[in-house]
Amino acid sequence: MDPARPPIPTRRRVLKGAALAVVPYALLPEPSAGARTPAPDHPSAVWQPATSANYTRRRRQPPRRVDLVVIHVTQTDYSNTLAVFQNRRRQVSAHYVVRSRDGHVAQCVRESDIAWHAGNWDYNTRSIGIEHEGWVDRPAYFTNALYEHSARLTAAICDRHGIPKDGAHIIGHHEVPGTDHTDPGPHWDWPRYLRLVNSA
Ligand SMILES: [Zn+2]
Repeated sequence: MDPARPPIPTRRRVLKGAALAVVPYALLPEPSAGARTPAPDHPSAVWQPATSANYTRRRRQPPRRVDLVVIHVTQTDYSNTLAVFQNRRRQVSAHYVVRSRDGHVAQCVRESDIAWHAGNWDYNTRSIGIEHEGWVDRPAYFTNALYEHSARLTAAICDRHGIPKDGAHIIGHHEVPGTDHTDPGPHWDWPRYLRLVNSA
């Protein structure tokens, strides 16, 4: 995870504040509207929402096609990753987190919204980010279950968005321009992963 928030957030906040000031109260959504539990985009995922302070609503941004899946490794455990995404001070999120021991998938940000995972605003706006529980130097975390469930998830994302299932469109965080992150690291088995994505 690596934030890259939208550019000039201060100005956006000012504009948003100004816009809210002129909207009649009755037109504002019910306070509870955002608290409803939506169905996850990936049917077998469990909805574990990030705080709305840690991602960007896509409808407030210019339209942009999603054409990348970015593969990450958390460098912390599954439950702490969810806690980080729910902590508004951390300013990071990803669309999905895959648990090591059983491949359980949590969805934290809707695919229609922009998660802050790539450390590069341009890449955030055109990608879906998947975090995998583990550490780049501890390959035991990359279990069969993790590879298989993640590959099914990535295959479904590619199908939903028309993304080619190849190494040019399913990339590691380390391939994002400007990042100093190394995940998923040298132990991530890319040939196996891409094979699984294509046979899912
Ligand atoms: Zn990463």
